[in-house]
Amino acid sequence: MADQPPPQRAEPREIAELRRLKAGNPDLGSAVDLQIELLQMQRRVQARVALPSIKLDSEHLNALLAASGGGPILQFDHLKIDWSDVRYLIRATAAAMRTHEALEDQDFQRADALCRDGARLPEIVRGWYAGGTAAAPAENGAEGLDPVLLQAMRPILTRAADAVMARIDLSAWNRGTCPLCGGEPDLAVITPAADRLLICSRCSARWRFHQLTCPFCLNADREKITSFASRDGQYRLFACDACERYLKAYDARKASRPVMPAVDSVATLPLDAAAIQKGYR
Ligand SMILES: [Zn+2]
Ligand SMILES: [Zn+2]
Repeated sequence: MADQPPPQRAEPREIAELRRLKAGNPDLGSAVDLQIELLQMQRRVQARVALPSIKLDSEHLNALLAASGGGPILQFDHLKIDWSDVRYLIRATAAAMRTHEALEDQDFQRADALCRDGARLPEIVRGWYAGGTAAAPAENGAEGLDPVLLQAMRPILTRAADAVMARIDLSAWNRGTCPLCGGEPDLAVITPAADRLLICSRCSARWRFHQLTCPFCLNADREKITSFASRDGQYRLFACDACERYLKAYDARKASRPVMPAVDSVATLPLDAAAIQKGYR
């Protein structure tokens, strides 16, 4: 889209924004500190992640998308994964999350066990990438590890997604799930042209989606969509009364900076709490 620059990995600026957020919102201090630690470790690894093996050619990528039947085009086997990096990221993520009381002790132990069991790790991560359908989480020992795997895989997935996003045309994609990795959005951005772009929670790919339709159940009945703005007007929340899920959005029409998922996901924690209190998930 002409008015949208490609997603940027401007970590230093993200970290500066996070520090500013913490200064103005001491209640978010621990969440900000955790996010900065995660960004720093992810940045270290992302610098050496290899490009995915998918053919990075616009014609090829657009044809893949057209023939995908709604499925994601980036296959797990396209990802160039250095498993020692993944083990490091899982360990370090779990340790940071435990320090900031964002992970239960037993889940920390599970993450640790997963890293020690080198043979099992690729299958667990493959199952997570496929949407957890490869094996029931309760049976594969990965239960409770979703938030850890999401962070640990981020440098690999964003590296692959950036490379594809730079060469693909997503204007015809109108689904609620990510065209690249199949993930769900957990944030959106409202552009100055009042379009709503969904942002993948896993690979950060962005695609345009109808402003008021629920991306999770495709409910388009406006009577069943509750939308409200944060007190400062910087964020909006769309909650669906059909499936009871919600999505947050950064309103770039009133902003001095572009959307930064790593910052905005922390800045909107109070909105999450408000939505959950109203019974949404
Ligand atoms: Zn994605
Ligand atoms: Zn819904």
